[in-house]
Amino acid sequence: MENLIAKLSEQKGITLRQNAPMREYTTFQIGGPARLLIEPESVDALVSCYRILTENAVVPLVIGAGSNLLVSDKGIPGVVIRLAKSMSRIEIDGEYITAEAGVSLARLATEALSAGLSGLEFAGGIPGSLGGAVFMNAGAYGGEMKDVIVETTYLSKDGTVATVSGEEHAFGYRHSFFSEKGGIVLSARMKLTPKNPEEIRATMKELSTRRRDKQPLNFPSAGSFFKRPEGHFAGKLIEDAGLKGTTFGGAQISEKHAGFVINTGGATAKDVCLLMDFVTEKVQTLYGVTLEPEVRMLGDFSDILQ
Ligand SMILES: Cc1cc2nc3c(=O)[nH]c(=O)nc-3n(C[C@H](O)[C@H](O)[C@H](O)COP(=O)(O)OP(=O)(O)OC[C@H]3O[C@@H](n4cnc5c(N)ncnc54)[C@H](O)[C@@H]3O)c2cc1C
Repeated sequence: MENLIAKLSEQKGITLRQNAPMREYTTFQIGGPARLLIEPESVDALVSCYRILTENAVVPLVIGAGSNLLVSDKGIPGVVIRLAKSMSRIEIDGEYITAEAGVSLARLATEALSAGLSGLEFAGGIPGSLGGAVFMNAGAYGGEMKDVIVETTYLSKDGTVATVSGEEHAFGYRHSFFSEKGGIVLSARMKLTPKNPEEIRATMKELSTRRRDKQPLNFPSAGSFFKRPEGHFAGKLIEDAGLKGTTFGGAQISEKHAGFVINTGGATAKDVCLLMDFVTEKVQTLYGVTLEPEVRMLGDFSDILQ
């Protein structure tokens, strides 16, 4: 690792941080240190840095804004590439917006509003990056990335820059080409629809109010913890099972929205896993429904999860 760090230090356009506490890079505010965290400023810098990693047989983990992650207390022994804030150029061309992976969905929705383009209203309150949203096919209030994305440029595992378009994205519920096959999303092109900005603004305001009324936004979390089981809502099952407020250490089933696990202060990944196991087992016993985490778990959980 020391040799690799020395080589990367000579590389322009990237920021390196050793032993980076992942709780600082996740909205859950949980997670041990990543041995090395790299933040590239541009696509070119990312491609060059990826080449160095490959030459050293290092496979990095890629994260965006860290809003859908549970990172192990042991951290991540290898390299994490973070694409949020940096790599955040946006170009608007008629009904099309092309944006780099690090652009936040909030900014994307605001830029679309300013350009009088409709289609991203649903995304304004999702605290992720464009790259993470494409990977997850993020969605809310009847909209999803699938509806707007026309083409995505990505860095494939072999280090070449490639594109997928239309159906090739294989978008499904919290699923995409990238969650299936890997690759680092570099940028995406979206097709929107012209609309009166006042109408767009009103919709965004209404969705933001609904979010604030329903979700525990005053606590760190990773959003809805479980996927929606077919024919059910995870939050409703958990609430019906009487599990609101159930607490393990600093992790709690939100009193406000039972689909959210919140960090009430100092929660560890272990607390969250114990809570997740407890809730999953109760719901399985009571309703015969298997809950699965929507949150992506990074790092080693082998000593906690059987
Ligand atoms: C309060 C709150 C509310 C939320 N509401 C919603 C909601 O309404 N709808 C919804 O769908 N989600 C919601 N989420 C979850 C989360 O915001 C989304 O899943 C979001 O799309 C994740 O983006 P991110 O940049 O934070 O990705 P991260 O959490 O950093 O990563 C998520 C996954 O994407 C991968 N990834 C990230 N960037 C890239 C990239 N450039 N290339 C390849 N892979 C990448 C990571 O490896 C990881 O597997 C919410 C979260 C919170 C905290």
